[in-house]
Order: sequence, then C-alpha cells, then structure tokens
Amino acid sequence: MLYDSIDMLRKRHLLINKPEIIRILKIQDEIVSQIRVFLKKEGFVEILAPIIGPVTDPGIRDAKQVSINYYGTEFKVMSSMILYKQMMINVFPKVFALSPNVRLEPTETIKTRRHLTEFRQIDLEVVNATYKDLIDLGERMLCYVIRKIKQKHGKELREERRQLEVPRRPFKRYEYREVLEILKNFGVNVEYGSEIPWDGEELLSKIHREPFWIMEFPVTARGFYYLEHEEKPGILRDFDLLYPEGFGEAISGGEREYRYERVVNRMVKSGENVADYGWYLEMLKNGILPSAGFGIGVERLTRFICGLENIWDAVPFPKVAGIYSP
Ligand code: AMP
Ligand code: MG
Repeated sequence: MLYDSIDMLRKRHLLINKPEIIRILKIQDEIVSQIRVFLKKEGFVEILAPIIGPVTDPGIRDAKQVSINYYGTEFKVMSSMILYKQMMINVFPKVFALSPNVRLEPTETIKTRRHLTEFRQIDLEVVNATYKDLIDLGERMLCYVIRKIKQKHGKELREERRQLEVPRRPFKRYEYREVLEILKNFGVNVEYGSEIPWDGEELLSKIHREPFWIMEFPVTARGFYYLEHEEKPGILRDFDLLYPEGFGEAISGGEREYRYERVVNRMVKSGENVADYGWYLEMLKNGILPSAGFGIGVERLTRFICGLENIWDAVPFPKVAGIYSP
C-alpha cells in the first residue's frame, strides 16, 4: 500500500488533475489564505523568505542540509529561516513568511508518512514575547483556521470523510520530562536529553483526541538559538505542538537566545563551527532584540485538516526521501 502510493508520486504529472488531488489543493489554498488573514489581523508583516544563504538552521535532527556552489563559495539551501527571522525582528515587531525549506531526510522517513524533503513553513517571530505568548498565539491561529475551513469547505471535508472539530482551548500542556514518563508507561524508553523519536511522537499523538503542547525541552535536544530558562538550567523556553490522532508534530518554537557570548558558547557546546556564522554573529555582536517565534508546516497542517494518510498527498509536487519525482 505504502509503496503503491509512493509509485504514484513518480507519475504526478499524469495524475495531478484527479478530483481527490484538486479537492485537497483547494482546501490548502484556503488554509494559507486564512493564516494570512489571521496574522494580518494580529498585526504581522509578511516578508519574503530567503531560499539560499551562507548558513542555515542546523537544528534539523538527522536530515542533511543541501549546499550549492555560489560563485565559488558554498551556500546552503534554507533548512529553515530562523536566523533571518532574528534579523527582521529588529525592523518589524511581528513578522512572518511562507518559507520554503529543503532537508534531505533519511530514507526511513518514508515510513513516517509525515516527512517531505521539500516543504513549507509559515514561519513567524514576535519581538519581546515569551514562549507562553507564542503558545497562546499558536492555539488561536490553529482554531481560527480550522473554524474557517469547516465553514468554507464543509462539503470537501465530508467528501474526504474527515470529521474535524475546532479544538477546545487551552490545549493540554506537558513538560518534556512528563512526556518521557508517559512514553515509559507504553514501553518506550527515551533517554533524558534526546529528541523524542518519530515512533514515540506518533504514539503520543495517537493517544490524544485534541492537539497538545510539549514544553521545555532539554538544551541538548535542540538548536543553539533557543533560550535557556534562568531558573531551570539545562531547560529551554521552547515548545512543540502535536496534532492528535497520530498525525504527529505540527509546530516547533520558543524564545530565542540573542546574546552574542551565550550563542557562541552554545554553538561550541553543540559542535557548530563558529566561523561559519559570520554575518549572524556580527549581527548579534551589534545587538538584536529578544524575540520568540515558531514555524508550522503547511503540508502537515493540510494533512491534518484533510485527514490524509500520507503527507505527499498534501502538496502539488511532492518530494519524498530517496524518490525521484517531478
Ligand atoms: P522543525 O524546525 O524541524 O521543528 O520544523 C518546523 C515545522 O516544519 C515542523 O513542526 C513541521 O510542521 C514542519 N516540518 C519539519 N520537517 C518537515 C518535513 N521533513 N516534512 C514536512 N514538514 C516538516
Ligand atoms: Mg520540530
């Protein structure tokens, strides 16, 4: 079944006008429009996302970055625009972009059904905000979009046989360490300090009927740009949102470390080559404002809203690890 469906990816150019695909793309168009409406009402300015640059987000787990030869120097294709959001927050207090990302995910991610190698995030950042402010924003945004899609595309959701409710707020909030306990009770042992593995994430998602947050990951599990708690050393002021019903991670975000010395320290500890981050470190040395933000994957949101088995049905030109397709 999985491999039949992957085979169809290679024939996308012949299948793109199937009614099922058209239906999903119409819903996706509305999802993106409604996120824009919501964020504009909240006072956000939309900026154009970078596609390439000297460095990009290293916090992408087991995925590999893509390099290009840029007139004789190495450039990266954006794995996420986090470093650029920190630049823009000094210009506009609330910014967002529809940001394309490329990550060469390991081939076993085909089996998660939620990993693409090319995807988009609505990536946003708010000056002087706390991670709890962003949790609140994320909940309101998700509920707003679901409500609008139900109103405007009830017919299409019924055709997809998707039963979708607007979640109740506030969503449940766990701390990372609580989640390790839950997983342990299901026989999944995750070492404190590491990322939650994909099957653990799916299990947690399956046992929930409503979206829920996981907050305060350990510093060793995440990128150097998340802010550490003053009063809880080793713990970050960050969060993930997980969809229920097995759909897995929706959002990652948090408060940012913005102080030059501390960032360098964190880079060294996480094994980054400080010299690669020239413009970014120069910017930090010059001083930037504190901020918090998050990214929500557009294809994953579409998959969840439409109730799709595979993420590759939630994008017009899907790219899946190891598969050659248009
Ligand atoms: P991350 O920076 O890895 O936390 O990614 C931010 C968000 O982008 C995630 O919460 C997902 O919604 C989405 N995302 C990350 N990696 C992928 C992927 N390989 N395929 C599709 N969506 C992704
Ligand atoms: Mg994440």
